[in-house]
Formats: sequence, C-alpha cells, structure tokens
Amino acid sequence: MIITSEDYTAYLNRAAVKISENREYVTELDAATGDGDHWVNLNMGFEALTESGEELKALPICETLKRIGMIMMSRIGGSSGILYGGAYLAAARAAAGREMLDMEGLCLVLTAMVEDMMSRGKAEPGFKTMIDSLYPAAEAFRLALEAGEDDKTILERVKKAAEEGAESTRQMEARKGRASYMISKGTGHLDPGAVTMSLQIGCLCDYLMEKGGL
Ligand code: ADP
Ligand code: MG
Repeated sequence: MIITSEDYTAYLNRAAVKISENREYVTELDAATGDGDHWVNLNMGFEALTESGEELKALPICETLKRIGMIMMSRIGGSSGILYGGAYLAAARAAAGREMLDMEGLCLVLTAMVEDMMSRGKAEPGFKTMIDSLYPAAEAFRLALEAGEDDKTILERVKKAAEEGAESTRQMEARKGRASYMISKGTGHLDPGAVTMSLQIGCLCDYLMEKGGL
C-alpha cells in the first residue's frame, strides 16, 4: 500500500475528530494521575494540524512530517508537545527524500518516532507513558512485515498492539511523567498519553484499511 501526504492529512483530520470526541474521558484520566491538561494540549495541536491541512497535503511526505513536527512542537503544551514534536521531526528524517511511504516506510517512521520519544523523554516501555502504546505497535508492525503478512493482517495487529499496550498501563507504576510523583504511582489508572496514542494509531490503521478496501 502507498501512503501519500494526502492520505496522512486525511488521517490527521480523522484523528482530530476522534481526539475532540474524547474530551471528557481523556481529561478524567489526566485528572486522576496528572494535572488534567493532556486533552487540551493534544486537542490544540490537532486543531492546528487540521487548519494546516491544505499546506500539509501538498508537500512530499518527508516535508509533511517535518511540518507536523513543527506545528506540534509549537502548539501542543506540556510534555506531549516536546515528545510529539520531536518524534515527528525524527520521522521526517527517517523518511528523508521520500515523496510518499509504502508499508515498510510507515514502519520505519513509527519506529523512528518511538526511538526519539524514548531518548528524549528518558523512558522505556513499562514506564506507564504513551510509549507503552507506540512501542508495541511499532514492534508488531516490524514482526508482521518480517513474517510477510498481508496489509490487512499487519494493520489489524498494529491497532490491537496499540490498544492492548494502552490497556497494559493500568497495572503499571509510573516511572516518568506526573504520575510518578504520586504515592500510588498511578496504579489502577490508565495513562492518558497511552490512551490518546492508541486512539491515533487506531485511526491510522482504520483509515488505511478503508483506503485499501481491506
Ligand atoms: P504534562 O505531563 O506536562 O502535563 P501532558 O498532560 O500533555 O503533559 O501529557 C502527559 C502524558 O505525557 C503522560 O500521560 C505520558 O503518557 C506522557 N509522558 C510524560 N512524561 C513522559 C516521558 N518522559 N516519556 C514519555 N512520555 C511521557
Ligand atoms: Mg498533563
């Protein structure tokens, strides 16, 4: 499957709607273990991305990813802004020179994003952060590609890994982010960043399955 800037922009628009619809849910999650602003931060970024849709879809994918990174860096507040901004800039470097992505390219992009988040945020899988959704998704992608699975199987596995990864944060003790300052370490609560990450990855997989008629 080929993923163009137009596709990526269409996905961002859907993700923006999805994020917007989950205002109460995400805010409650961040109020329980953080400072309650995660939805506002992320929604602000996605609104800005939606406004820049015309510009984003006209660029080659490597430039689209770079612009997304710059918009996210400047418009999303909190830890998420730096982490998402940095991750998209790393994705742009991984896609350097590419007009569009194929499935291998998309896997490289997701892998570059999670690696950048891990080094920038000094966090690893198991620390109860958004990495706990993105890391297993990127890993499932790589393994499914290596096994020669078809696009539908790959996308289903990536989406499932992201969702299960987010769900797995419920039992984790936070080692990064605001929840790590709590006596409970947030145990028993889902990490808001992992949940919003899984919403985005789910949208991406759904969009690509629909586009490919899978
Ligand atoms: P802030 O914590 O500054 O209020 P947000 O509320 O926007 O920022 O985002 C909180 C989310 O950011 C957390 O739920 C977690 O998933 C993620 N996060 C926080 N710190 C880190 C880190 N060091 N590495 C990766 N993700 C992190
Ligand atoms: Mg917060």
